[in-house]
Amino acid sequence: MKTIIIGGGAIGMMQARELAQAGVEVTLIEKGLCGQEASWAGGGIISPLYPWRYSDPVTALASWSQGYYGNLVESLEAESGIDPELSRHGLLMLSLEDQAEALKWAEQHKSWVDPIEKDEIYRLEPNLREGLKEALWMPQVSSVRNPRLTQALYQSLKNEPAVTILEEQAVLGVIIASGKVTGVKTREGAIEADNVVITAGAWSGGLLEPLGITLPVEPVRGQMILFKAKPGIVNRVVLCDGKYIIPRRDGRVLAGSTLEYVGFDKQTTEQAKQQLADVAIDMCPALADAQIEHHWAGLRPASPEGIPFIGAVPEVDNLFVNAGHFRNGLVLAPASVRLMTALMLGQKTPIDPEPYELEGR
Ligand SMILES: Cc1cc2nc3c(=O)[nH]c(=O)nc-3n(C[C@H](O)[C@H](O)[C@H](O)COP(=O)(O)OP(=O)(O)OC[C@H]3O[C@@H](n4cnc5c(N)ncnc54)[C@H](O)[C@@H]3O)c2cc1C
Repeated sequence: MKTIIIGGGAIGMMQARELAQAGVEVTLIEKGLCGQEASWAGGGIISPLYPWRYSDPVTALASWSQGYYGNLVESLEAESGIDPELSRHGLLMLSLEDQAEALKWAEQHKSWVDPIEKDEIYRLEPNLREGLKEALWMPQVSSVRNPRLTQALYQSLKNEPAVTILEEQAVLGVIIASGKVTGVKTREGAIEADNVVITAGAWSGGLLEPLGITLPVEPVRGQMILFKAKPGIVNRVVLCDGKYIIPRRDGRVLAGSTLEYVGFDKQTTEQAKQQLADVAIDMCPALADAQIEHHWAGLRPASPEGIPFIGAVPEVDNLFVNAGHFRNGLVLAPASVRLMTALMLGQKTPIDPEPYELEGR
């Protein structure tokens, strides 16, 4: 069975790896270079921000993935020689209005969420701004250095004989004959396949539009900055009023992010840079001494309620979608690709597939 995967972000590459490991011959087609869009631009927090504010379908994917991440990163490092730098240092949330909901959610989902006070806050993060009295602490949340995760995925696929990677080749459309997908069109010509999976992130809807199918996935720009700080200034992910700082092992600290509905425009703005810097320095004043080394934007694939579309395209045989992971594609990826693989190969699904179906949404 030959399968084409359209789009080499975290979802497409993880999907290719899963299918190849299940014995499927895969061609992954990427319009640019693999792992350079949202999956590169993201922060790599392995949890939805404020997880209790999400619906059960997002929680189901997140919980499954969180249980699997350690194993994934270990296997990827063995396959690729690249360490995706999974840090298990927890998530600290400052200034929360819905703490009661958070604690209720934690009890229901057997998740570890602790209200903590001043002494514990500064024991965990001594460099945070003065005057903090209470916070919520999720010690089990981890983060991954996502550009390294995508590099590891890429290298692992390069080493996998069942996978062919075609880069700098946009898929111009899917080819349908008698209600069934038979391949894709590229500038170089047609490529045939038995199955096609669309994992094109924010661009996924555009591939279905010519078939008269509406997939409500739209780009939402997120800007981020990077401080070149010394190791130890921040040690865990800290979240305050929707903005966060994320430490990397080498001391660098990411600060993000904006949420902008500006179409497929990936420009950065001075205003966002200043705002992100102000918020980060307000959270951790020591960052004022660190140089801002980089500033970028990525396009999140937004879907209604952030629930991704995972499953078969109605009325077109052998065409599938795995897209629309919005703010959580890095955390949701492992469960999403396992679910998609199980659906394609007729295996037992890891979670109930119904909430992610394309039909009727
Ligand atoms: C600022 C920011 C912060 C984020 N932080 C986090 C976080 O902390 N945790 C988390 O879990 N998630 C986070 N996210 C979200 C996460 O990055 C995305 O949900 C995820 O990367 C989506 O992966 P993807 O593979 O679907 O999309 P992408 O990585 O965008 O990949 C899609 C790929 O498809 C290719 N493509 C498109 N059209 C075609 C075509 N016609 N032919 C061939 N190829 C095509 C594109 O070039 C691209 O490489 C963040 C995102 C941003 C922008």
